[in-house]
Amino acid sequence: MADDADRAQVINDQFQQDMIRRAVSASSRRAPADQGTTYCVDCEEEIPLSRQVAMPGAKRCVDCQQMHENWRAL
Ligand SMILES: [Zn+2]
Repeated sequence: MADDADRAQVINDQFQQDMIRRAVSASSRRAPADQGTTYCVDCEEEIPLSRQVAMPGAKRCVDCQQMHENWRAL
């Protein structure tokens, strides 16, 4: 039997996913050309929704972005 903490966790997860979905669809409606891409330009892996929301202009996945930044820092 689920206790209150479990129920709160489930509700919180659903809320977050809903917010992410709304934020992504809102930003893709606004400016599709300048809002980054769904797929990483380097490795062509799908960029996680949470990253697209956190970094709306992101064109790389986290791994490739880190490599890109380290490369420039050298
Ligand atoms: Zn990548």
